[in-house]
Amino acid sequence: MLKQLPKRQRIRKGIVLFVFLTFPVTMNFLSPYVIIDGAMNGVLTGSAVMFGLMFVSSLFLGRAWCGWVCPGSAMADIAEPLNNRAVNPAKISWIKWLIWIPWMSIVAWLLIRAGGYSSVNLLHLTESGISVDAPEKYIIYFIVIGLFIGLAIVFGRRAGCHTICWMAPFMVIGRWLRNRFAWPSLRLTADVSACSDCKKCTYNCPMSLDVNAMVQTETMENADCILCGTCVDNCSKNVIRYSFSARK
Ligand code: SF4
Ligand code: SF4
Ligand code: SF4
Repeated sequence: MLKQLPKRQRIRKGIVLFVFLTFPVTMNFLSPYVIIDGAMNGVLTGSAVMFGLMFVSSLFLGRAWCGWVCPGSAMADIAEPLNNRAVNPAKISWIKWLIWIPWMSIVAWLLIRAGGYSSVNLLHLTESGISVDAPEKYIIYFIVIGLFIGLAIVFGRRAGCHTICWMAPFMVIGRWLRNRFAWPSLRLTADVSACSDCKKCTYNCPMSLDVNAMVQTETMENADCILCGTCVDNCSKNVIRYSFSARK
């Protein structure tokens, strides 16, 4: 099946699979709890730095992290053969803010109570350097994987990414700032004059976006676009392209 994919998509899926296989090592660096424990003790943790890097990368690369290096992408790929039904992003994407806003408020409150960051320990709660370094820690590991794969199987394409991901809002905010100030960054562009209206782009979008509608308006802007390039690589008319540019 992989062989039928365009070369760039094979490479992308290979990268996210590799990242997923290393998830037992890296899990704590993406943990929503480690940053809380760090804030409580005034320690700048590895996960706080990673969330900061996601935000900074989104200022110039949009949500390419999601499409190209997040283990969550591989979890979505695992669920895809079991349920590839599109979800309705407009109806469910707000849910993640119900997690992100209280979570970030708690982190800020704990940090103020601790008097700010007084030390840096990127291996906070990960002293061995490996997140899952004891059998009982696999419980959390499997809960995270089960949640993302389970939601996708039950509700459809990347339902977990749309609803429970605590990382996505950092990048949505970064994208918004980028668009607000209109500096150059990685984005999609489209030339509607070449479009045959086949809707293959919409059908294949892993984030269930109406890509064809985006093409028709030549805006190609959507906070849920993860710049995976599936639409770019599946359009036989070369209508959609990657571009590093400011918004038109
Ligand atoms: S939405 Fe969250 S889980 Fe999904 S790819 Fe992006 S960062 Fe990963
Ligand atoms: S796949 Fe290409 S040609 Fe088909 S609707 Fe999308 S942009 Fe147009
Ligand atoms: S619009 Fe294209 S690049 Fe964006 S998520 Fe959908 S398929 Fe990927």
